[in-house]
Amino acid sequence: MIVVLKHNHNQEQLEGLVSWLQEKGIAIHTSIGEANTILGLVGDTSKLDIDLIAALDIVEDVKRVQEPYKNANRKFHPEDTVIQVGDTQIGGGTLTIMAGPCSVESEEQVVAIAKAVKASGATMLRGGAFKPRTSPYAFQGLGEKGLEYLKAARAETGLPIVTELMDVTQLPLFKDVDVIQIGARNMQNFDLLKAVGHQDKPVMIKRGMSASYEEWLMSAEYVMAGGNEKVILCERGIRTFESYTRNTLDLAAIPVLRKLTHLPIIVDPSHAAGKYWLVEPLAMGAVATGADGLQIEVHNDPAHALCDGPQSLKPEAFDPLARKLLALHSWMKGPEG
Ligand code: PEP
Ligand code: MN
Repeated sequence: MIVVLKHNHNQEQLEGLVSWLQEKGIAIHTSIGEANTILGLVGDTSKLDIDLIAALDIVEDVKRVQEPYKNANRKFHPEDTVIQVGDTQIGGGTLTIMAGPCSVESEEQVVAIAKAVKASGATMLRGGAFKPRTSPYAFQGLGEKGLEYLKAARAETGLPIVTELMDVTQLPLFKDVDVIQIGARNMQNFDLLKAVGHQDKPVMIKRGMSASYEEWLMSAEYVMAGGNEKVILCERGIRTFESYTRNTLDLAAIPVLRKLTHLPIIVDPSHAAGKYWLVEPLAMGAVATGADGLQIEVHNDPAHALCDGPQSLKPEAFDPLARKLLALHSWMKGPEG
């Protein structure tokens, strides 16, 4: 339930209302915006008399919230969430470009790619150390060593790193990682979501292959319910009847999520497309529909990549794309932006 207060509400009456609700076991999430103060009532509100609250002097409006997610809900938190990562921000009008190889293959490889993507305008380095592969016989990632190589690339370039956590037991190794990625296959691994909710690094949750918006937001809610509000959502394509592309990129997710949640929205055109030549049009489409950023796979030698070569851009193809994305983004912000 959401209670919108009148502009000129009296502090004493507000405190009276808050303690009355708290006595009923309701937790209050207060959001002070420019225009309104909003109380988010979390807990079992089913027994509250909505008409009684609406009749209070300080109350402008009361609404029952149907959505099961509260912390991730824009209704409770009208302003966009902006997440500070190193010197860069995710959300709040910036365009975050995360780029790098699917998998970390060696220190030289990841350092060279990091330098190249940084020079083109990338703001974060991606790279998998622990890889969720469909086949147990495929390259599974370098594990802990891969994390060390990512950190070496960060030390060389200053780019913050985003990398996938596959299992709760790996969490102690992720202390130095800047953003923890939860992969599509783990979007509903609730124990993993709870674990990252109890630590304070930002968490990027990729959309499950067949997850609805609500299921995806409930995964964000798991993390936030644990106390970690630094959650980023990443659309990476969903599975449909179409088999030409690896997945089907759902660009509608961007404006829909923008309406439903205050969390930043990143788009991964690489895993959506599965083909390198589709990455550019899909990435441009993502910026045009309002994404806060992109996650793009870049490999120095895609033909010999240990994972996802066919969808990886060479640094020389990534460079003009990154520039176009930044130009489109600043054009969309208008002359004031
Ligand atoms: C990845 O980013 O390397 C990855 C495995 O992505 P997803 O979880 O979206 O398949
Ligand atoms: Mn990949």
